[in-house]
Amino acid sequence: MSFDLVLFGGTGDLAWRKLMPALFQAFRHGTLPEDGRIIGVARDALSDEQYRMLIRSRFDEVELAKRPSPEEFDRFAALLHFVRMDLSQPADYAQLAATLRERNADTVVMYLATAPALFTRACEQLAQAGLNTPNTRIVLEKPLGHDLASNHQINETVRRAFGERQIFRIDHYLGKPSVQNLFALRFGNSLFEPLWRRETIANIQITIAEDLGVEKRGNFYDSTGALRDMVQNHALQLLCAVAMEPPINAHADAIRDEKLKVLRSLKPWTAQSLAQHVIRGQYAEGTAAGEPVAGYRQEAGVNPDSRTETFVALRTEIANWRWAGVPFYLRTGKRLASRDAHIVINFRPAPHAIFKSPLGAANQLVINLQPRDGLELHLLAQGADNRRQQAALSPVQLDLDFDKRFGSERVGAYERLLLDVIHGRLNLFVRSDEQEEAWRWVEPILELWEGDSDGPRPYAAGTWGPSASSAMIARDGYCWTEEC
Ligand code: NAP
Repeated sequence: MSFDLVLFGGTGDLAWRKLMPALFQAFRHGTLPEDGRIIGVARDALSDEQYRMLIRSRFDEVELAKRPSPEEFDRFAALLHFVRMDLSQPADYAQLAATLRERNADTVVMYLATAPALFTRACEQLAQAGLNTPNTRIVLEKPLGHDLASNHQINETVRRAFGERQIFRIDHYLGKPSVQNLFALRFGNSLFEPLWRRETIANIQITIAEDLGVEKRGNFYDSTGALRDMVQNHALQLLCAVAMEPPINAHADAIRDEKLKVLRSLKPWTAQSLAQHVIRGQYAEGTAAGEPVAGYRQEAGVNPDSRTETFVALRTEIANWRWAGVPFYLRTGKRLASRDAHIVINFRPAPHAIFKSPLGAANQLVINLQPRDGLELHLLAQGADNRRQQAALSPVQLDLDFDKRFGSERVGAYERLLLDVIHGRLNLFVRSDEQEEAWRWVEPILELWEGDSDGPRPYAAGTWGPSASSAMIARDGYCWTEEC
């Protein structure tokens, strides 16, 4: 199978930090079809050779094990080409069309790794230039819009040029091996299915914590914030993966139909639930890895009076038979105590206690997403101190570390997703109706914050966010897992 992958924004941050290393790994693993071209596109006037040199220099910043040897790079570089064009200039599309006509590849992938403001113009012009052929797939990076109306408008424009089955909307969390393991845990095994419901589960917590600040992306982040950057997409996709019904098969639309039902079942916000169940924060000065670090408002590219949230914690419920009444807590933030993404399923305690009260966590399944990928099952056991009658039970933990079990050389998220696009597999991409439903649900929060003069609550960098986040969950009689 031959392919042309056109990387709009081929000299940008995403291209060289994520996409090129992922394409090289696929090339190294022999999974990238050999008969292919990767065509970088940007406004810089570069020759193919200059583009190859640029990419080679960027590989010096990639971790050693994932860096190509000189021989490997020479073979990979043969795939790399460059077309200079300005996506906002209709006349520039002719050169791209001529380059694609040179080969008439079986599959053409157009990857829009550029500013979202260019997405609609690019799709319109690609169609004008006749570059929306049935063998073309278009890949859209997040964020797709900044609210429901803008998301809808982008989707409408893209759909005028491409059919829904040609559109690949990236949520790179869905490409993570750990998220695929969540699907495997739920739908490849029958063990947990009878327990996966309101009768046995007390609450579910989803945390995506970053220890870094905004780094060099202050400008972008300040107009986005944690709700748009993480909750509307990644956190809600994780919630769908946890809460969805088993799909009838593994086809893309069967999976996406079930995820959509979850999004549609999220309890609508009321003035009271918005006031009590949504907490926003912004990091102030503090520490990271033992070193003092600046607050958000002091970061480069950030407005010194910024009201942008770098932390969100919220509580929601899913109004259906399986989940009615079970609280789902979602939490994400920057400059938190550690880099840690996990889902905690807290099962109900035993209905009648015949042992002394245990200490610590039990009855709990933890799905670790990062930095490690694995499962922990927390149970109670009779510990060493069993000479006395009525000894308290001790918590014990069963650990399944997928990185150790399968090796850390597993396929990374972008590698997996790029290969899926080339092969036309849509399972791990988000359909427009899912995306719109997610925007519809976060919109009341955005509207509330827009008119709210209080702004986000400050929290010290290196902590788990504002204390109001702990207070919110404590009102239900629960605690975040690191606080219990
Ligand atoms: P970036 O570093 O600013 O790169 C933008 C790229 O687009 C450059 O190659 C730039 O090259 C090119 N470009 C800009 N205007 C153009 C035009 N009119 N015509 C043709 N090319 C143009 O941005 P980025 O961080 O890579 O982000 C790209 C997209 O990915 C954005 O939608 C972003 O939200 C998304 N994203 C990025 C990351 C990340 O980690 N960086 C993560 C998730 C999503 P020239 O200026 O030379 O034209």
